[in-house]
Amino acid sequence: MRSVKETLKEFLFPPRCAVCGSLLPLEKEERLLCPDCLAHPPFLTGEKCRICGRPVDNDVLCHRCRHKDFLFTAGTAAFSYETMQEEIAAFKFHGYRHEGERLSHLMAEYLLQEHPGWATWADVLTEVPLHANKLRFRGFNQAEILCEGLAKETGMHHVPGVLERLVDTLPQNSLKAAQRKENLKNVFGAAKKDVIAGKHVLLLDDIFTTGTTLQECTRTLLRAGAAEVRIYCLSVVCKEEDFEQNSIEKT
Ligand SMILES: [Zn+2]
Ligand SMILES: [Zn+2]
Repeated sequence: MRSVKETLKEFLFPPRCAVCGSLLPLEKEERLLCPDCLAHPPFLTGEKCRICGRPVDNDVLCHRCRHKDFLFTAGTAAFSYETMQEEIAAFKFHGYRHEGERLSHLMAEYLLQEHPGWATWADVLTEVPLHANKLRFRGFNQAEILCEGLAKETGMHHVPGVLERLVDTLPQNSLKAAQRKENLKNVFGAAKKDVIAGKHVLLLDDIFTTGTTLQECTRTLLRAGAAEVRIYCLSVVCKEEDFEQNSIEKT
């Protein structure tokens, strides 16, 4: 039974599609995308940076990745962060676990459509880890949920917990670029070295911002013996003003 408070809230703030803002059909109240947006997801297509997946004009790398020596050899993202901001927040912070399952379905669709070779390339699919404190607080690792769904639909081999976060760091978004690097030094460890030795690893996260977290995770994977690492993110931050914005909680 729905409480009076819930019903009233819905009356005053009827649920809207996270992408186009249209009112959602009542029976789909738990969904955050309208049927139209679900049928034609606003995927990032066309020319994209081969490291982070941001749209580019006539170039293989975006201006942010051009001067960085990323250790992963390729990366991609299904959506721009700006398009999916509300959906991601609902999933991460409000505990809409089923939203994660639906998002992973879209991630599978995108990967098979845009990067058809990747699912067979990857020997192991794993996620950027959360520290135990955050995991306890949130109850789940959003990236791990996305991996589970993605593996189910693509047949990839998901091994959770290959990486572990040894130190509970400050949120990356509260720091400047130089501090971000320092903040993450020696933060990650490889808990399952035997699984990744000599293997192709596809590393998954929900948001690609500056890439510092993914870089440190990749460093740890390569040190532990992985042959090659590629990155797959649900979304990539595309608007310049969002890089310094505090609402992007990078855990
Ligand atoms: Zn919509
Ligand atoms: Zn890039």
